[in-house]
Amino acid sequence: MKYSLALHGGAGTILNAEDPAAIKPYQDAMLTALAAGEAVLSQGGCAVDAVVEVVKSLEDCPLFNAGHGAVFTEDGVHELDAAIMDGQTLNAGAIAGARRIRNPIVAARELMRVGKTVFLAGEGADRFALQQGLPAVSLDYFSTERRRDQLREVRLRQPGSQQLDHDVFVRPDRSGGGLGTVGAVARDRLGRLAAATSTGGMTNKPSGRIGDSPVIGAGTYASRLCAVSATGVGELFIRRCAAHDVDSRMRYLNESLADAVKFVIHDESRLPLDGGLIAIDSLGNICLQQTERMYRAWLVEGLTPIVAVGENSRADEFWSGEDKASSG
Ligand code: ASP
Repeated sequence: MKYSLALHGGAGTILNAEDPAAIKPYQDAMLTALAAGEAVLSQGGCAVDAVVEVVKSLEDCPLFNAGHGAVFTEDGVHELDAAIMDGQTLNAGAIAGARRIRNPIVAARELMRVGKTVFLAGEGADRFALQQGLPAVSLDYFSTERRRDQLREVRLRQPGSQQLDHDVFVRPDRSGGGLGTVGAVARDRLGRLAAATSTGGMTNKPSGRIGDSPVIGAGTYASRLCAVSATGVGELFIRRCAAHDVDSRMRYLNESLADAVKFVIHDESRLPLDGGLIAIDSLGNICLQQTERMYRAWLVEGLTPIVAVGENSRADEFWSGEDKASSG
């Protein structure tokens, strides 16, 4: 079987999306992250390890709202959320409101490996990571100047609101001060699926607020049918159980991945979503859909990786079935 891999770097307004010079550093960072995941898959590694490597790479990159470069809460600190799910076993690990874990996705994977609990929040999450010997960092490790600018901007313009970081316009020459939440989905050569998501949440979020990213079934989900990672206004994705809904439509209605994802993202009949989804199925089909512009990249073994920003296109339903590989 061929492996396939997809990632997102968040959704939102994304000013300057058509300016190649402004977008290039993000495209480069996404390709670097994709390569980190591909290095695992091409050596026969598993989907879980691949999505961890992708997300870790994006957590370490200050351009994205996860790990170093995460947005600020209304209290001017960082509270990080991350989750991972193994579609083969339905094992999962989730971390919310962490303040000291350098790579929240690694802590989530460690929690999944230990297997006693699925979801740890706040102090307990930090303590667990320390006990596992994962690198701890000072509170300001995650801070960057542009995120401070974003917080000031939101406090000034819309005090009391929380914002997707793409939607926070900082200076005329900047595209919203950075990109968003990150996530990855993968199918390895044995057909196993995994999903991972990591975020600082939304700028100016109330202390203690947990978004959809670490909530299994909302922002992150994986089964033997599909693996899904979401980005967008977390409250909506939680209330819609969005990631799990993709699995349900495939399972109970026998829908294809593309039909299920498109329905979930674009269904306006109940509580419209604001954001996007990336998903992969057991044949390695990839589907990426959004209501807002989403940064995204994907690859299928043997084919050139694709990076995209902006509207949905035909290429966003990328069929990679064994003998049908094409670039859509
Ligand atoms: N979904 C994330 C949250 O609500 C934010 C994002 O995707 O940018 O925490």
